[in-house]
Amino acid sequence: MWLKANGVEIFNEPGCGKNRAKSEKERKQGCSKQASPGAAAGGCAFDGARIALQPVVDVAHLVHGPIACEGNSWDNRHAATSGPTLYRTAFTTDINELDVIYGGEGRLFRSLREILSKYDPPAVFVYQTCVTALIGDDIDAVCKHASEKFGKPIIPVNSPGFAGSKNFGNKLAGEAILDYVIGTREPAYTTSFDINIIGEYNLSGELWQIKPLFDALGIRIVCCISGDGRYKEIASAHRAKINMVVCSKSMINVATKMQQRYGIPYFEGSFYGIGDMSNTLRRTARMLAQQGAPDDLLVRTERLVNAEEARAWARIAPYRKRLQGRRVLLITGGVKSWSVVAALQEAGLEIVGTSVKKSTDGDKERIKEILGDDTRMVDNLTAREIYHLLRDAKADIMLSGGRSQFVALKARMPWLDVNQERHHPYAGYEGMVELVHEIDRSIHNPVWQQVRIPAPWDDEGGGSHERIVSLSGHAKRVLPGEDVQDNQVHVHAGVSA
Ligand code: SF4
Repeated sequence: MWLKANGVEIFNEPGCGKNRAKSEKERKQGCSKQASPGAAAGGCAFDGARIALQPVVDVAHLVHGPIACEGNSWDNRHAATSGPTLYRTAFTTDINELDVIYGGEGRLFRSLREILSKYDPPAVFVYQTCVTALIGDDIDAVCKHASEKFGKPIIPVNSPGFAGSKNFGNKLAGEAILDYVIGTREPAYTTSFDINIIGEYNLSGELWQIKPLFDALGIRIVCCISGDGRYKEIASAHRAKINMVVCSKSMINVATKMQQRYGIPYFEGSFYGIGDMSNTLRRTARMLAQQGAPDDLLVRTERLVNAEEARAWARIAPYRKRLQGRRVLLITGGVKSWSVVAALQEAGLEIVGTSVKKSTDGDKERIKEILGDDTRMVDNLTAREIYHLLRDAKADIMLSGGRSQFVALKARMPWLDVNQERHHPYAGYEGMVELVHEIDRSIHNPVWQQVRIPAPWDDEGGGSHERIVSLSGHAKRVLPGEDVQDNQVHVHAGVSA
């Protein structure tokens, strides 16, 4: 019911250029694309809502549905916490056949009662899933009733998987906190330096790489939605002076509606790459100054940016020598595609290709600006094409998400996870140094020499298998009948061309 009333409205997003360019009819159809046969589709809307909200660390996240929905989505992104750990406890109503026939609302209510009595969290987020939506469970009504009865905020997140894509689920999560959380509490105090960060999930602790920079400028992060988030902080987010949106495609609706409801201006920025981090700090300072912060903030920001950039460059310098001219294949998407391209070029790496499948027109324009042309932008690479690019040693390393890691491993080439499941934080100046360090570690890992050792020679006059060898630090393909001498590939004597 809620979806029917609000789903179309969410598809109408004034903060998204792509959405604005659509006709009224196209807009009603939403942003999901039909999955083509054989292609891997992303997560469901429920998964997207869970990803967006699970980093709120002090609340209980209760999934109303079959147990597999919870198992499918639980803590799959390494969102880190600086305190409470309740967000990592898996709660599900685990509905069964009888609930499907008689309804699962009673079970949901009892689950809420049990969670509140055992864990006493400041709030509970209740996620709707496919089955419970299809049998007509009214989670809004149950949450309202339980909230009144137990005196605790209980937030319905109407995100059944069938509603749409993971990205749509991010927005449904945003709607839930807009309707039920933001604006429900007043902060203890306010300052002229208060900001919210929206769409930053503190994956592997990235928020902690950029928070010290804001702290050094006296800028207070009132709340981060939702990395290392606390319920009470999000509830008082409406008193911040500005909003910064990190991943524009995920929760832009929170920023646009906060602007409409509370008059808080926002901007889109990135923490990836030295230049982007500096621009984000400058933009934040400028917007705060426009909102009434003292002008000396701009001077202090410039001083901090200069000092931090110099420090980061000094730490990257030793790697630049080792990585200069190394070729990178970048298979990622959205805002990351341009911000990571900029970051890699800063480290002296050469981009042989970058996928722009998930990028907006604005993202593509930025990549074009950074690379100087669009010849290296690829809309979609199949696994076979990626494999050939790597196997033919046209790239020295692939940076991508976990889904394509096996292609790189099959081609016996280094691979680094830069997507949401990454184990290392890559934000801010500190993150850039970390990224370069990890690329260096991956490329120069001795394991690649070992796995590329060819099968034993089984004929005279050359190997019968093609192989990849390292010559002067660059991977080269050696075909059957070829040999390596004096650091160069030669056709073996006696083998005619
Ligand atoms: S598609 Fe539906 S059933 Fe599957 S995980 Fe998502 S919510 Fe659960």
